[in-house]
Amino acid sequence: MNDSRVDVIIIGAGPAGISAALQASSLGLAVVLLDEQSSPGGQIWRNVAQADARTRQVLGSDYTAGQKLVEALLASDVRYQPNAAVWQVTEECRVHFLLEGKARVLQGRQLLIATGAMERPMPIPGWTLPGVMTAGAGQILLKGAALVPQGPVILAGCGPLLYLLAVQYLRAGIRVQALVDTGALRDLFSHWRQLRQALAGWRDLLKGVSLLATLKRAGVRHYRGARQLRVQGGQRAEALCFDSEGRSHTLGAALILLHQGVVPSTHISQALRAEHQWSEQQLCWVARRDSWGETSLPGIFIAGDGGAIGGANAAATEGRLAALAIARRLQKIDDSSLQTLAKPWRRLLRKQCAARPLIDALYRPHAQNRVPEDGTIVCRCEEVSAGAIRGYVDLGCLGPNQTKAFGRCGMGPCQGRQCGLSVTEIIAEHRNVPPAQVGYYRIRPPLKPITLAQLASELEFESSTSSTPQRSPT
Ligand SMILES: Cc1cc2nc3c(=O)[nH]c(=O)nc-3n(C[C@H](O)[C@H](O)[C@H](O)COP(=O)(O)OP(=O)(O)OC[C@H]3O[C@@H](n4cnc5c(N)ncnc54)[C@H](O)[C@@H]3O)c2cc1C
Repeated sequence: MNDSRVDVIIIGAGPAGISAALQASSLGLAVVLLDEQSSPGGQIWRNVAQADARTRQVLGSDYTAGQKLVEALLASDVRYQPNAAVWQVTEECRVHFLLEGKARVLQGRQLLIATGAMERPMPIPGWTLPGVMTAGAGQILLKGAALVPQGPVILAGCGPLLYLLAVQYLRAGIRVQALVDTGALRDLFSHWRQLRQALAGWRDLLKGVSLLATLKRAGVRHYRGARQLRVQGGQRAEALCFDSEGRSHTLGAALILLHQGVVPSTHISQALRAEHQWSEQQLCWVARRDSWGETSLPGIFIAGDGGAIGGANAAATEGRLAALAIARRLQKIDDSSLQTLAKPWRRLLRKQCAARPLIDALYRPHAQNRVPEDGTIVCRCEEVSAGAIRGYVDLGCLGPNQTKAFGRCGMGPCQGRQCGLSVTEIIAEHRNVPPAQVGYYRIRPPLKPITLAQLASELEFESSTSSTPQRSPT
């Protein structure tokens, strides 16, 4: 019988997906790489192939480092398909996606999910006002369209991306009015035990130190240990208020960028009903995976930040390892080659992950910015406040899924991406049980909005370029 399945479908063309695609293709597998962006690179190397010289200089060497891998992908046999937004995946590795507004479906023999991370929401009072954005959104505008703010900005929260964006804005000539850091210097001393292990990943540690030194040299005001953050304003953000080192501050601001780290994007693996667990280290849900990245569902792998946050280099290495395991499954290599080929990547991965426990501990988002006070909106789509969620718990609501029935929480266009983690933690706190006991939303397709007309006209995606699409069996 003619097997029309593609060997492996990879979702996500960031460091993990591109590296996996190149590795799999080099071992003779037919690979289709789908991504909703219009060019490869993922979050870190977004738009790197098109960025002009000025944007490259502003974004720095970690950004331009992606160019080589992107070029290798475009020159390879991998069938890379941009503008493909995946809205459903089945356990049988059938991937449904929207391609420039048209529904397509593709059958794979194995599947790799490399969908990366999203920013952890930072629900503080006033975070829904115009003039407040996430730092990640600010950086996407910079990478995607070379857009920078007109006036001065305040960056608030914690995490390497916050410092990185501050430095990138300085290079772009933007005035960074203040860095309002929820972390404190004493955090470093309280985690000294992790320091020894982290030294193996000294390059990552050095990067953070060097970003902070650049900000200091530029005279950026740096407030540490900030608490009680709230945005003030009527129609739009006018000021950021907070306490730091025993004093209260109010800084006038028209643009405030919030950030408190990134978390794995788990909507696809959650919708697949792969097993997940609560990570106390990273304060988020992570899919259970073996050392090759295979989930509880045979033939379905996850690599990169979509599995657990490890950074771009670790993501690329995890992609390589998953591709090797997939090649073994499809009998392109034997067991002994698998182990030999994997060995250097495993060694590298250990180094790349060495600093992670320290990084997670240093930039652990503060409880008050994850489990907000009653008046703060948590579900932005349906305007549900933390107080309303606590009220549902008092009425007998046990977990996030039930909040949907109580008050449409998590039922808006973002399908709970923005509020899911906060809702889990608010319920856990109010019930006085661990988040693992509270669970997460039961994610269902469509993961992206799709119209009935699009659904009805879904066609098989032809993974080789020549022939015309076939109507998919319903
Ligand atoms: C907004 C943001 C900005 C970041 N900027 C930096 C930075 O400047 N420097 C840095 O070191 N780290 C940055 N990070 C962290 C960084 O994402 C990672 O460490 C690294 O890019 C992880 O690589 P990855 O391959 O796992 O995922 P990613 O690079 O995130 O790639 C995932 C890809 O999957 C695609 N995708 C996701 N869902 C779907 C879907 N349903 N259908 C189709 N395609 C999909 C995305 O379009 C994306 O291209 C950033 C993270 C975020 C959230």
